Amino acid sequence: MSKEKNHTKRPILQVIRAKCIDCCCGDKQEVKLCAITDCDLHPYRFGKNPFISRKPMSQDRKDAASAQFKEYRNRKKTEDAA
Ligand code: SF4
Repeated sequence: MSKEKNHTKRPILQVIRAKCIDCCCGDKQEVKLCAITDCDLHPYRFGKNPFISRKPMSQDRKDAASAQFKEYRNRKKTEDAA
């Protein structure tokens, strides 16, 4: 069925957003105004998950993540070379 409709791999929130726009006949303003709050897609209709808070990373956290990633990359290079 997927091949028949020419579906492609996409992030699920993007798919939900597209479905909501389709549900509102292509009118994004109508998606914004959607009053069907019992629809399971309603919280996700803007293509974002409102239940995940994305706090900005502190500089310390960024530095730690960067160091961790560098370490991983170096380890991977060593493993690939062996
Ligand atoms: S939340 Fe449900 S009813 Fe509202 S636009 Fe999206 S699919 Fe349609």
